[in-house]
Amino acid sequence: MTMIADNLQRVRARIAQAATACQRKPDSVTLLAVSKTFPAEAVRQAYAAGQTAFGENYIQEAVDKMAALADLPLVWHCIGPIQSNKTRLVAEHFDWAHSVDRLKIAQRLSDQRPEGMAPLQVCIQVNIDGGPTKAGVAPEAVLELARQIAALPRLHLRGLMTIPEPAADFASACAVHTRARALFDALNAEGLQLDTLSMGMTADLEAAVQSGSTLVRVGTAIFGKRDYATA
Ligand SMILES: *Cc1c(COP(=O)(O)O)cnc(C)c1O
Repeated sequence: MTMIADNLQRVRARIAQAATACQRKPDSVTLLAVSKTFPAEAVRQAYAAGQTAFGENYIQEAVDKMAALADLPLVWHCIGPIQSNKTRLVAEHFDWAHSVDRLKIAQRLSDQRPEGMAPLQVCIQVNIDGGPTKAGVAPEAVLELARQIAALPRLHLRGLMTIPEPAADFASACAVHTRARALFDALNAEGLQLDTLSMGMTADLEAAVQSGSTLVRVGTAIFGKRDYATA
């Protein structure tokens, strides 16, 4: 077995254990393998081990990788910041975008989504722990943005995404993730029909699953430590 296959098995076991510990079904949590900075060959190995959903932050890097892997039926998620000048690449190449936090970006993605493709699946990034310089819409502004995005013809609003600061311990990680879950539930109570809460990474996936995440984005535990110097 390759190292990546072995790591994937461990991560799936972590998710299953975290889910059963809180009476959730293991398959109620989707695993997104975050392959940023890793070569197409690493993605190919993960695919051989049964992984089909991959997350990328750097849009040009991702598009190059997609071309190298066009023979595989992969689902690509954009999880990095999306500037206006990159919306066309995202709209033309990705299946999902998790990091939408402004109407202007959502509008461009909808306008630029090619007719022949399924609608772009979208999550709104929420700044759940209030960092002033962080990406993500403020929690109190999410409902209005969600309604606006839900009305765009070529997007399908699926849920929320968060990237909280690393927490000191399990309980404080759960406290932040639980706020995101409450916001998600409140939007559904307003009739938005969201099914995806994208939260939890290598360090905090157990806390995220316990707090109601439906999708965890895991890089390091699958592919190893990232080397940004050579990326
Ligand atoms: C890099 C990244 C991840 C994966 O982080 P790990 O700690 O390596 O699991 C998840 N989400 C986002 C938005 C990222 O940028």
